[in-house]
Amino acid sequence: MLARETFNLLKKHQIRLDRRKGQNYLIHDQILSRIVENAQLNNSDVVLEIGAGIGTLTIPLAENASKVVAVEQDKRVLQVLRERLHQEGISNVEILEGDATRLDFPYFNKVVSNLPYQISSPITFKLLQYDFDFAILMYQLEFAQRMVAKPGESNYSRLSVMMSLCSQTELLFKVPRKAFVPPPRISSAVIKLTPHKNPEVDDFFVKTCRALFQHKKKKSRKALLQSFHEISYRDLERDSIRNLISQIDNKLIEERVFKLNPAEILMISTQLEDAMEKLL
Ligand code: SAH
Repeated sequence: MLARETFNLLKKHQIRLDRRKGQNYLIHDQILSRIVENAQLNNSDVVLEIGAGIGTLTIPLAENASKVVAVEQDKRVLQVLRERLHQEGISNVEILEGDATRLDFPYFNKVVSNLPYQISSPITFKLLQYDFDFAILMYQLEFAQRMVAKPGESNYSRLSVMMSLCSQTELLFKVPRKAFVPPPRISSAVIKLTPHKNPEVDDFFVKTCRALFQHKKKKSRKALLQSFHEISYRDLERDSIRNLISQIDNKLIEERVFKLNPAEILMISTQLEDAMEKLL
């Protein structure tokens, strides 16, 4: 039903979807229902939707929440969205036109989106700067797996560490390619993300984490040494950098980066920052 409706609408408005613009429209009824169910909406919820498209999710969200803030950047698609909302008599959707990575979001307490995959990473980090109850988000499977990966696993990454320290992240279910038009190249997955503020995750930590994961398979001592420019722009002699790093707990710097858990990475960054403050 959703598939036919989508094809008809796209045909009527002569819209050709473009994968490169992150346009993969959901055409699978059950998956749509599961996403909406997981959002546990009530009539006081204000839902942020990023990449609203022709309103596949927007309409059921609006019917179950107090308000939906729908962000979309494609002008032609927006025309269809506006027309549909009007036809359905839906008036509790605020449309924000533009690039979701650049806009400031108004108040919301939940996020529900089938995300444009190109902006998965920046939009996830951007969302973490806001305060909200939880998000139900569709990502490419590989990205979703990186989000929830544990230390030692092959897809454990900087993203896994950040997610673990700033949110509780759960992979709810996988979604096959055929659930979309046009079908994306790989499968997708729906994630539930519950954010929490972590004051320890500051600028210095983010830089240290980035430096470490540039050399994920190396010992962290070596990773820090080789990517020290990511942490500090000061012109330090190689020996002073070595000296700084050697002030970190030996067990931590002798471990390979991909085996360090998020708490250990935090310890590395705190100890390194202390050592630098003493020196400089
Ligand atoms: N929610 C719809 C559409 C998902 S596809 C559905 O589930 O079917 C993602 C949508 O995001 C597309 O309509 C695309 O035009 C839009 N989009 C892509 N990049 C964007 C960006 N940077 N900011 C806002 N919208 C974007």
